[in-house]
Amino acid sequence: MNSRIEVVTIETDVLIIGGGLAGCMAGIKAREHGVKVAIAEKSNTLTSGQAGSGIDHIWAYIPEVHGKMGWTMEDLVEDHVQDVGHGFASRELLHFMARQSYDRVLDLERYGLRIRYDDSKLPGKFRLVHQFHSIPSALNVDARPIKAILTKEAKRRGVTLLNRIMMTDLLTADGAVAGAAGIGTRDGKIYVFRAKGVVLCSGGKTGRLGRESIGLDFNLHLPANLCGDGKAMALRAGLPIMSMEFLSPRRLGVAHYDISGGPPRNTWQPAASIVNALGATIVPRTCFYEWGDLEKGYRVDAGESRRAWLVERRTLAASMPTPKTWQETGPLYLDCTGGTEEEIRYIEWSLSNEGKCHHFLKYLEEEGIDLRRDKLEMGPLSREIGNLSCAGLVVDANLETELRGLFAAGDEVGGTPFTASTGAFTMGWHCGDVLGQRAKEDDTLLPVDGEKVESLRQLCDDLLFARHGCHWREVGYALQNVMDSYCGEVRTGPMLKRGLDCLRDIRSMPLKAANPHELARCLEVKFLIENGEMVMRASLAREESRRHPTHFCRADFPEQDDRNWFAFSATRLEKGKYRLSRIPIR
Ligand SMILES: Cc1cc2nc3c(=O)[nH]c(=O)nc-3n(C[C@H](O)[C@H](O)[C@H](O)COP(=O)(O)OP(=O)(O)OC[C@H]3O[C@@H](n4cnc5c(N)ncnc54)[C@H](O)[C@@H]3O)c2cc1C
Repeated sequence: MNSRIEVVTIETDVLIIGGGLAGCMAGIKAREHGVKVAIAEKSNTLTSGQAGSGIDHIWAYIPEVHGKMGWTMEDLVEDHVQDVGHGFASRELLHFMARQSYDRVLDLERYGLRIRYDDSKLPGKFRLVHQFHSIPSALNVDARPIKAILTKEAKRRGVTLLNRIMMTDLLTADGAVAGAAGIGTRDGKIYVFRAKGVVLCSGGKTGRLGRESIGLDFNLHLPANLCGDGKAMALRAGLPIMSMEFLSPRRLGVAHYDISGGPPRNTWQPAASIVNALGATIVPRTCFYEWGDLEKGYRVDAGESRRAWLVERRTLAASMPTPKTWQETGPLYLDCTGGTEEEIRYIEWSLSNEGKCHHFLKYLEEEGIDLRRDKLEMGPLSREIGNLSCAGLVVDANLETELRGLFAAGDEVGGTPFTASTGAFTMGWHCGDVLGQRAKEDDTLLPVDGEKVESLRQLCDDLLFARHGCHWREVGYALQNVMDSYCGEVRTGPMLKRGLDCLRDIRSMPLKAANPHELARCLEVKFLIENGEMVMRASLAREESRRHPTHFCRADFPEQDDRNWFAFSATRLEKGKYRLSRIPIR
């Protein structure tokens, strides 16, 4: 073919797709084996991914604290499975993360992350707060510079960081991964990587499947460039993707400012509560945990602590307002005005590290809003693939997929809600370790599939040099309208089927890109459509309603059906046809 697009081929031992928390950690560890490691990152590892502007907490099992309190690793796993996942979680994966969590936190400290504080009364001088589990297991940390720290460490160890490359296709040979292909988002070239092993960790989540509530395209909780690219490429490579029907429901957050920090048991603790316009408390504030409190309140047997926590958590969950209660009883406000000076300062410190929130603090300052005096209005955030949804790639206990040599890590992995940064650090590290070791022992680079590279080149050619076509935004809006209209919070078989027809029409809308940046945006929209189709097909297959973990509601199947549906769904493409199956929950 006479293409105007240049193809660049790069050989490496280990290829990592996505330089977020998991990808950087995988690269750092793989290099310890002395092999060649490349990270292909769509953006820039310094600030890319969900942790690009910081994280403020990391859940971990800390033997010197939790062991002393009589709380075992098993208790943590059980909490996560039952209370976060409502049973929809892989115990095996959680055990793996819990076991490794503390060692990875110590690694991060060695790389330069501050995790100890002189004012702490805990052993180890940690700041620990309540978040996911029945006792405080989340380290509050100064992790705004986490991406800069990991990038520096990866560079120091000799990882090749290739920014502004968006990977689009996995290359396979005889049931194994041979590498991957993608495009340069600045130079418009096609990059073909040949590798002995690949870690897929492109973040897994997306918030771009539905319209954002205030109508601004990228005013999202998640980075806009997260589009489910990894799932789309895995689907096309014939791999199963699990739990796609469980789009996270709309949550309430700070109105018009889609930030992280979900009150009141998150970055806003200890002083935030939720009140209505009449000043009545809808969700009470949490308390400040000190080591003294920990000993007083939690040095009891773990079962007892869990039971107390369950009552509190269920009360909290029941009182937590949804968009429906917001519409019926709003406006609602986030209220920190009862906090002491010390508590407000603590919240501001936490917020200054949490994703997107230092911009938010600046905004508060510019608008003259003071948490000591002013309440913040709450509103619904966008729906997402991610967090509670457990959606992602199916992996075995070693984090390998069905495609030999292809591993997945972090939010890309399905089966466990809120693995969060802990999942990224632990899984990334493990994938880097296994693939680094394998690459050292085996010299084989498999041949790459030239046809696949050629069809990517043809596609890019068509998009870049098309005379007519739609702007990527137009097609993106069409997709969001279809998802919101036919696959909303309440779904039915006929509506989903009609939605699938509409998706077919959207797929046939011709796209046109004016430059390499728009080329990437066009490809993102194509990947979003593939994700949307998976969501619809998995929703159609699940013939039940299930309140937890994600308020999945089929109006034509209103009952929960544990006998048939207490299972993950798996969606895959076989010879161009979708096939849905169930994966038992272990
Ligand atoms: C605002 C916010 C605040 C958060 N705060 C916390 C917190 O305090 N504590 C906590 O534990 N967790 C927190 N999380 C969650 C945590 O950040 C994620 O769980 C974690 O970053 C997941 O790591 P990951 O490497 O899987 O994905 P990410 O860190 O999102 O990285 C994915 C990377 O892949 C790249 N990429 C995407 N597509 C492609 C492609 N096609 N080709 C190449 N590269 C690609 C992206 O640019 C990105 O760099 C927060 C999340 C958000 C959004």
